Amino acid sequence: MDDYEKLLERARSSLPEKTASGERFEPPAAETFMQGSKTVIKNFEAICVKIRREPAMLSKYLSKELAIPGTIEGSRLILHGKFYDRVINEKLATFISKYVICKECNRPDTKISEGVHGIRTLVCDACGARSPVK
Ligand SMILES: [Zn+2]
Repeated sequence: MDDYEKLLERARSSLPEKTASGERFEPPAAETFMQGSKTVIKNFEAICVKIRREPAMLSKYLSKELAIPGTIEGSRLILHGKFYDRVINEKLATFISKYVICKECNRPDTKISEGVHGIRTLVCDACGARSPVK
């Protein structure tokens, strides 16, 4: 093992707790490109799979935050406006901290449960915490 690998090893062992699935959660980043007056998130489906949220929920959130319509096309999301990936990734990070990460244990092993009157609750599979989400 060379020094670089040792460094990597040390960096890994000092990382925060692992998720229930045994993997460390790394918030996904959106890969985007502009196409004319639109912005395409090309790994949209992969992001949704990773954070275990419905594509419709994330696309609705982004449309609302960016104040433009969005269309899901296969595994991509087409945003009907021009945005730098930095802007989209900021929104994505906010979405993840609000709707994915458990407020108690900071793990991403959560789900959204929708109750009567459309009241949504973030339920953590790891620690059982429940917190209301808007
Ligand atoms: Zn938790």
